[in-house]
Amino acid sequence: MDSEFNPRERFIRFLRTSQRILIFTGAGVSTGSGIPDFRGPQGVWTRRQPVYYDDFMRSEEARIEHWDYKLEGWSAFRQARPNAVHEAVADLERAGKLLLLVTQNIDGLHARAGTSPERLVELHGTNLLVECQACHRRSDPEPHFESFRQTRRPPCCECGGFLKPATISFGQTLVPGDLDRASEAAAAADLVIALGSSLSVYPAASIPLVAARCGVPYVVINRGPTGHDDLPEVTFRLEGDVTELFPPLVRAALVDA
Ligand SMILES: [Zn+2]
Repeated sequence: MDSEFNPRERFIRFLRTSQRILIFTGAGVSTGSGIPDFRGPQGVWTRRQPVYYDDFMRSEEARIEHWDYKLEGWSAFRQARPNAVHEAVADLERAGKLLLLVTQNIDGLHARAGTSPERLVELHGTNLLVECQACHRRSDPEPHFESFRQTRRPPCCECGGFLKPATISFGQTLVPGDLDRASEAAAAADLVIALGSSLSVYPAASIPLVAARCGVPYVVINRGPTGHDDLPEVTFRLEGDVTELFPPLVRAALVDA
C-alpha cells in the first residue's frame, strides 16, 4: 500500500514532525491497567447511586455513602500500574514533543508513569489524593481509608473541613485553572491526539476540537465509535485497542527521529 494513504505511516510522520502535541486520554487508556470503565455496562453506576457534591457537603449520610463507594475501589486504584500507553506519553514528553496531556481518568497513572505536573491536567481529579473541601490541603488517602474502614465515620481535616477523594463529583464544577491550561494548550498545539475516549463527555471533549479548529491535524485512536467520528475536524482515526496501537507507533516515530 502507498504509505501516503496508510494512516499508521501518516501518524508516525505527524509524531515526528510535531513539537507541541496535545494529548487527550480517556477510560480506554486505563482498561489496560485493569481499571474498569465505570460508565460501561459492568460499571459501578449500574449498582450504586452517585453522590452529588451538594449532598456530600450537606449530609453525613451522603458522605458515608461516598466514602463507602470510594473504599470499594481503593485497593484496585492503589495497586494499578501504568501500561505501555502511559509510558509512551511519558516518552513523548522526554523527547520534548508534549505540550500538554489532558486526561479524563482519575487513576493518577499518567503521573505515576512520569508525566510531569506542569504537562498534566487531570480534568476530573485523582483518586490518589484526598482533598479538604475547606482549606484544600491534599494528602495521602491510605490513612483516611483505614480510619473509615474501622470507624465508618467520614474523615475530617485538622481544620474541621470535610475530606473527600480529590476527584470531581457529580454536580461539582471542574477546576477553572485546569480548563484554562487546556484551552491555552489547544490554541498553541501543532498536533492533537485523542486516545481511548468515547469523546462524549463535555466540556472535556471540546478540548481536542478547539485545537483541531485552529487547523492542526486531529487523530482519534479508539476501539468503538466516538462522538467525533463524523466531524470534519478529525483528520483520520485508527480503530482498535489503544494499548496495542499507540505505543509501537510512538516507538517507531522516536527511534528514527
Ligand atoms: Zn482543611
